[in-house]
Amino acid sequence: MMQPAITIAGTRVKPGQQTTISVPVARLYTHTEMAMPVHVVHGRREGPRLFVSGAIHGDEIIGTEIIRRLMKLKRLRSIRGTLLAVPVVNVYGFLQHSRYSPDRRDLNRFFPGSEKGSLTSQLAGTVMEEVIQGCTHGIDLHAGSNHRANLPQIRAAIDDPETLRLAKAFKVPVIINARLREGSLRHAAAELGIPTLLYEAGEALRFDEVAIRAGLRGVMSVMQALGMLTAKQSPASDIDPLIADTTSWVRAPISGILRMKVPLGGRVAKNSKIGEIADPFGDEEVEIRSPVSGIVIGRLNLPLVHRGDAVIHIAHLDRLKGIEPIIEEFREEITEDR
Ligand SMILES: [Zn+2]
Repeated sequence: MMQPAITIAGTRVKPGQQTTISVPVARLYTHTEMAMPVHVVHGRREGPRLFVSGAIHGDEIIGTEIIRRLMKLKRLRSIRGTLLAVPVVNVYGFLQHSRYSPDRRDLNRFFPGSEKGSLTSQLAGTVMEEVIQGCTHGIDLHAGSNHRANLPQIRAAIDDPETLRLAKAFKVPVIINARLREGSLRHAAAELGIPTLLYEAGEALRFDEVAIRAGLRGVMSVMQALGMLTAKQSPASDIDPLIADTTSWVRAPISGILRMKVPLGGRVAKNSKIGEIADPFGDEEVEIRSPVSGIVIGRLNLPLVHRGDAVIHIAHLDRLKGIEPIIEEFREEITEDR
């Protein structure tokens, strides 16, 4: 069936139309108008309405690049349903290379937002009203913050069967069963009954080709799982992801200079060595050992640490067998994808 036209921020989009709408957000104090661009691909045929959002944290620019590549795809012209893609949600933070809003708030703690609230809360409210409401599914794209890089992973509330199905469809090596945090976009979307995935990959303010390609491929695979794209239009993959219920950060036991011994995606056994920290002269040196068994899903790239700094993020897995083949397969698939 042909779907009806939709209206976003006062602009009507007809079925079969692809367009970019500038959604007005709060002005800067210079009196400069600000807007959040929303790409709309409104298919002719009825189907799901999917939102894909990037840079809710203004320095997490990998999602912005994933969306840019996504919008180039000619096959979007024939989708079923509707795609709403917002490459830069936190337009203020993006401008300042900052995770936060100009009022120093974390946008991803202010959903669903309010018209009468702070600047951050107003932005959250606009995103909800113009984009999220009326969607049936969502994908929110993030990257590691503060010199930390993440292995491509999905975080989702997988107790919900539809969310789990889509999380698996994303075809990254690891799914983290992540509870919903109050104020996050994911939480606000879940309150409206919209299954939403959070994709985490790479590092803030950096491009990482594996993270970008895995994200693009993941969005397309989810669109296929939703029936928006056909199987022929979407990349094939044999990845059967590992699922972890718990993750933990290992912290620096002393202040000093860190030498990390395990890569992203590496497997660690309980008590195995993951790195060393030494003072600048190497007189005092302390080994860091993993308190748990699992897979490295995030790590600090900056080797200068204070005692207590989070250096490595491990998804707990009891069975270490099978980790390496999945990571290898994933890397091969991503390198071959063109
Ligand atoms: Zn983030």
